[in-house]
Amino acid sequence: MASVNIIVGSHVWVEDPKLAWKDGEVIKIHGQDVHVKTSDGKVVVAKIAKVFPKDTEAPPGGVDDMTKLSYLHEPGVLQNLATRYELNEIYTYTGNILIAVNPFQRLPHLYDTHMMEQYKGAAFGELSPHVFAVADVAYRAMINEGKSNSILVSGESGAGKTETTKMLMRYLAHLGGRSGVEGRTVEQQVLESNPVLEAFGNAKTVRNNNSSRFGKFVEIQFDKSGRISGAAIRTYLLERSRVCQISNPERNYHCFYLLCAAPAEEVERYKLGNPKSFHYLNQSKYYELDGVNDAEEYLATRRAMDIVGISEEEQDAIFRVVAAILHLGNVEFAKGEEIDSSVIKDEQSRFHLNMTAELLKCDAKSLEDALITRVMVTPEEVITRTLDPEAALGSRDALAKTIYSRLFDWIVEKINISIGQDPNSKSIIGVLDIYGFESFKTNSFEQFCINFTNEKLQQHFNQHVFKMEQEEYEKEEINWSYIEFVDNQDVLDLIEKKPGGIISLLDEACMFPKSTHETFAQKLYQTFTKNKRFIKPKLSRTSFTISHYAGEVTYQADLFLDKNKDYVVAEHQVLLTASKCTFVAGLFPPLPEESSKSSKFSSIGSRFKLQLQSLMETLSSTEPHYIRCVKPNNSLKPCIFENLNVIQQLRCGGVLEAIRISCAGYPTRRTFYEFLLRFGVLAPEVLAGSYDDKVACQMILDKKGLKGYQMGKTKVFLRAGQMAELDARRAEVL
Ligand code: ADP
Ligand code: MG
Repeated sequence: MASVNIIVGSHVWVEDPKLAWKDGEVIKIHGQDVHVKTSDGKVVVAKIAKVFPKDTEAPPGGVDDMTKLSYLHEPGVLQNLATRYELNEIYTYTGNILIAVNPFQRLPHLYDTHMMEQYKGAAFGELSPHVFAVADVAYRAMINEGKSNSILVSGESGAGKTETTKMLMRYLAHLGGRSGVEGRTVEQQVLESNPVLEAFGNAKTVRNNNSSRFGKFVEIQFDKSGRISGAAIRTYLLERSRVCQISNPERNYHCFYLLCAAPAEEVERYKLGNPKSFHYLNQSKYYELDGVNDAEEYLATRRAMDIVGISEEEQDAIFRVVAAILHLGNVEFAKGEEIDSSVIKDEQSRFHLNMTAELLKCDAKSLEDALITRVMVTPEEVITRTLDPEAALGSRDALAKTIYSRLFDWIVEKINISIGQDPNSKSIIGVLDIYGFESFKTNSFEQFCINFTNEKLQQHFNQHVFKMEQEEYEKEEINWSYIEFVDNQDVLDLIEKKPGGIISLLDEACMFPKSTHETFAQKLYQTFTKNKRFIKPKLSRTSFTISHYAGEVTYQADLFLDKNKDYVVAEHQVLLTASKCTFVAGLFPPLPEESSKSSKFSSIGSRFKLQLQSLMETLSSTEPHYIRCVKPNNSLKPCIFENLNVIQQLRCGGVLEAIRISCAGYPTRRTFYEFLLRFGVLAPEVLAGSYDDKVACQMILDKKGLKGYQMGKTKVFLRAGQMAELDARRAEVL
């Protein structure tokens, strides 16, 4: 599209396998082939459609808004981000979207109180791009229009979502807080909920030393005068498997290590000690985090828990449960005398079993039975079946995961109760910090749910970007009706349509006792043979590929059925409901009569779908603002900007899609004055005449024979490539 005006001598971008794009000068054009001498002295030949003009007049420090780029294309966007990153300008707008490139180094001045004061009430775009500016717009819009707003923060793991969310919350607390009020204010509680949730829901992963293993939507409520009056935290899909299974160089949830580093008296009380002695921690040899002192963090977490309103007794109970899980993980099994049965392996295991029972305040014998046997209820009789050692281990791990996820949910609920909801709240600002698109070597049910989330958010994003474009056109009173809008509804139908979508088929498979992952996969293949978004990989009988908006992802169906089943083993339920500790018993309220009898099936997939639906409803009732976080390198180090990596994320985050939508319309806008300044030279006679700016612009455009552009009320709207065309003419004149 933009290549029409490429001639010998043009400065251009050509594709490069390592750098994504390289700049150079055209030395020869032969049919469709363009020969380019790149700035590092090589000659490359590329197809003309793949060569893009380079703006030789781009400001050396880049532009703070991508829409100010003369040429809005991938290499231009990338170059602009890279240039700014080098100058520690980590924020850049693309219209209303803020792109934030993780600096991987503390930039304290960027977030201090002085900075907050500067952004307070400043017009958007007046100061350098910043998260505070986005929060400020949301806050002002809420106050002035009485409308709820939301800020959606996305990006891949380690891109900086959670840090960004914390800055946003700090700024909102700064605006909506009560100055000079001592004690536990709502805004303090909102802020201190972060370290508490992080202690229990974050862990070191390959991609991020403090990775959130759950999604989070924080709804901050404001009263009539714009003061924070309440808050609600919703969380999504905590990763459960981590409790029992980790590998190098990852860690389990922070809280386990914090507790092992607690004051001696507590470590003694819970019979803890070195994390190396616990199976749930020693599967990985990483115990410590750089720059983090677990002993101090433990105390800090306790203080944060005080502030959010978790009492001393409750805190003790929480950590007692955490300790119990560590001991439970050390219970091992050996083959029993009968076939397919098991016994507690040795004295060591017996000790840990007893410790677990003591900490959970339940009966040790019942715990043992719950681990090594299963009661089967058939219409005729009740049979007790023994489990072999492998199944017993599975039972143990299932118990640990269930307890931990209930504990996490309890903490979230407690924080919500303690902060309190404001029933009279006029409007809210919601902040969403949720996992970005994932595509690994092997992808399972978790990735499926995560990518489903991202499809949903992408649809919301596209619709919004499209709407904003339309509004701009309407404001300038120009004709926009023919702009096409690409939708991802077809992928969403494939996943969530009821009946017939993948989630529905998975639920059916889970309810049918004879299903296996193979029959499930076969069913998918049969159902979606003609679906453009569904691909059956050639050599596999159990995997399937979905063509997501961000690219193709192949999922291994092997564990889908197990992971989708949402049930607590009946024996575990009975055991813990009977705990003498009210806290533990409270985590396992007795099931209502009818649901224990009828096999009412509950699935993680369907429940998640409903959660997402409700999230989308909330978001739809708000004015959204988007922040796209970008991770510039995988070494988590400052000052390294890897082009290919960044491009991939801009694609997945829909930034390029947003640009594409705007390219389909009139991507380049210049006020009449700016336009004349740049292109006046094309028609000196027009400049000499005393025309109105708008008329003068029109005369220049007509003189050069441009078609399809539009004149707005204050701006010229150019189609993609037209700026390059005008520049080429200008180069001839100059
Ligand atoms: P995500 O939530 O997207 O997985 P995080 O917000 O946890 O990522 O960020 C990962 C790490 O990157 C942080 O622990 C921090 O070291 C660094 N980081 C992210 N954003 C910033 C920032 N604005 N300033 C300084 N460091 C940051
Ligand atoms: Mg995070």
